[in-house]
Amino acid sequence: MSISALSDLIDPAKCPRLVLKVGSALLVGVDGAPRRDWLAALVAEIAAARGRGQEVLVVSSGAIALGARRLGMDKGGRGSLSDAQAAASVGQIALAGLWAELLGQHGLIAAQILLTLDDLEDRRRYLNATATLGRLLSAGAVPVINENDSVATNEIRFGDNDRLAARVAQAAEAKGVLLLSDIDGLYDRDPRAPGAQRVPLVRGVTAEIHAMATGGSSSGLGSGGMTSKLQAAEIAELAGIALGIVDGRPESPIGHALGEGSGTLFLSRGKRRARKAWLGGRMRVKGSVHVDAGAAKALARGSSLLAAGVTAVDGAFERGDVIAVIGPAGAVLGRGLSEYDSADCALLLGHSSHKHAGILGYAPRSAIIHRDQMVML
Ligand code: GLU
Repeated sequence: MSISALSDLIDPAKCPRLVLKVGSALLVGVDGAPRRDWLAALVAEIAAARGRGQEVLVVSSGAIALGARRLGMDKGGRGSLSDAQAAASVGQIALAGLWAELLGQHGLIAAQILLTLDDLEDRRRYLNATATLGRLLSAGAVPVINENDSVATNEIRFGDNDRLAARVAQAAEAKGVLLLSDIDGLYDRDPRAPGAQRVPLVRGVTAEIHAMATGGSSSGLGSGGMTSKLQAAEIAELAGIALGIVDGRPESPIGHALGEGSGTLFLSRGKRRARKAWLGGRMRVKGSVHVDAGAAKALARGSSLLAAGVTAVDGAFERGDVIAVIGPAGAVLGRGLSEYDSADCALLLGHSSHKHAGILGYAPRSAIIHRDQMVML
């Protein structure tokens, strides 16, 4: 039973586990104070979902915005990295306390998890997060997750909770993600432009879909915007997860959006094996190899990438790093774990496998990327 409508996201039979992402502008008012009444109504919706037998994980933003107000920082605490780190530190306690209190009013136990990018990029740490989330859910708790902004630096951070939510859904093996936004879905052009139409259903985040997204966060409180939501949808669809965007602003936003039939649903591209799903969602790519037309065709048929079809190597990477595979027309065809470091790849390119031992002086692997370690995009 796959998810084909937004309302399926709250159907425990079709979506037994849901990740709900709540943005900063919804949680924190323009005065910098938490929007308690709105959040209390949302928590009642979460409690109702739990009552129907659906497990819910929350990805909650708002730490930086809440902390900035308490520390008297300007620009919502986003003026500099050190401001954001300090603000998040102060705001996260308040944020977690708020969730714990309001969930507690429904007899639900909140569990805080703070993640950094590497916790989900590194396979071992990713599996560790999967185990923790699974145990929390089986114990009946509601995980409330945010990025660990106090220690994250620009190089090692997600920076937006949209992609974090999609990655968490993968780690938690959820079938659906619901992003509560300050807009009621994706529009076919700038939503303020005359004649702009909401796109209710998206089958695959294509270049045409990307062209519809405009700019960053409209509220100035979060860091998301439609661009990061589309990136989240891409991670989700590759992992076999459906992703919805609905307007989070009304009271009880989930019921409101489903009642009205508004929002955008991004369909998944079917189920992927867990390891491939993790690989497809990896965000940091260390380098790339360019391939010729023959290799591109073989890859599309599911073959491994052989050095004979590689025409160029970019970047400095180690064996086991994720690299992109770029086709003759310049499009990224896929991503996979390299069997060689970049220097060895450069020595091997264009040469067929039986020559590798002679070139490198050691027993070679037969492929640059083995097909089990590769996802086509
Ligand atoms: N992690 C940030 C916070 O808690 C929010 C990131 C975002 O805006 O998506 O404030």
